[in-house]
Amino acid sequence: MIAMERVEKWYGAFQALHDINLSVRAGEKIVLCGPSGSGKSTLIRCINHLEAYQKGEIRVGGTVLGHESKTIDAVRREVGMVFQQFNLFPHLTILENCTLAPIRSLGLSKAEAQGRARKLLERVKIAEQAEKYPAQLSGGQQQRVAIARALCMQPKVMLFDEPTSALDPEMVKEVLDTMITLAEEGMTMICVTHEMGFARQVADRVIFMASGAIVEEAPPAEFFTNPRHERTRKFLGEIL
Ligand code: ATP
Ligand code: MG
Repeated sequence: MIAMERVEKWYGAFQALHDINLSVRAGEKIVLCGPSGSGKSTLIRCINHLEAYQKGEIRVGGTVLGHESKTIDAVRREVGMVFQQFNLFPHLTILENCTLAPIRSLGLSKAEAQGRARKLLERVKIAEQAEKYPAQLSGGQQQRVAIARALCMQPKVMLFDEPTSALDPEMVKEVLDTMITLAEEGMTMICVTHEMGFARQVADRVIFMASGAIVEEAPPAEFFTNPRHERTRKFLGEIL
C-alpha cells in the first residue's frame, strides 16, 4: 500500500530524514514514535507530499509519488490526514467542512456529499452538531469531525499526526476510541502518537525514530518488553 525506499529529505542544508525504508501493507496499523524533532511529522507529511522529499522513492497504491501535481493529487485522494490542531475551516459549518473536498475534488453532488458526510458524522457520534461551526465544539468533537472529514474522501490510508496531543485529558479517550474502531474496520493507518496504550492495542508494528532515521521496529509486545536499542530504552523510560 505504501512503500518508502531510501528516502532522504532536507530542509535547506538540514537533513531531516536519513535513508527511510518503510513498507506498509493494506490493513496494517503502524505507530510511529520518537523524541521531539526526530522526523515523525516530516516522514508522514512526505507520504502525501505536504513536504517534498529529495532522494529515494515513495509509492502509494500503485502510484510513484513524483513532484508533478497530477501524481500528487492522485496520491492525496487516497490518503487522509488528521493533524494535532484539527485544522477545520473555521468559517464553514461541520457539514460544510466535510462536503467541501468531496464536491470539489471528487465531483460529488451536494446531496451525495451531504449524505456521505452525515453518515460519517453519525459514525463519529457527532451527527447532531452538523450545522454548528468548529468553534462551538469541544476539542475532542472537533478532532472527531476532522476524522470524519478525512473519511468522506474514502481514503485507502489514514495518517494521524499526534491527534490527541492538543486535547484535554478527558477528551483523549473519545478520539482514541474512534481511531480504534477505524482500525478494527480494517483501515490502513500510520499514527504518530505517544499513546502507548493505543499502540499496544492496535499497532501491528511500532516504529521508533531518532535523529531522522528509523532506529527500531517491532510488534508492540516485543517493542515494549524487549527494546533492542539503547535509544529506544531511554525513550521508553521517559514516556512510560
Ligand atoms: P515533534 O515530536 O516535536 O512533533 P517530529 O518528530 O515530528 O517532532 P519534525 O517536525 O518532523 O519532528 O522535525 C524534524 C526536524 O526537522 C527537526 O529538527 C525540525 O526542527 C526540522 N524541521 C521541521 N520542519 C522544518 C521546516 N519547515 N524547516 C526547517 N526545519 C524543519
Ligand atoms: Mg511532529
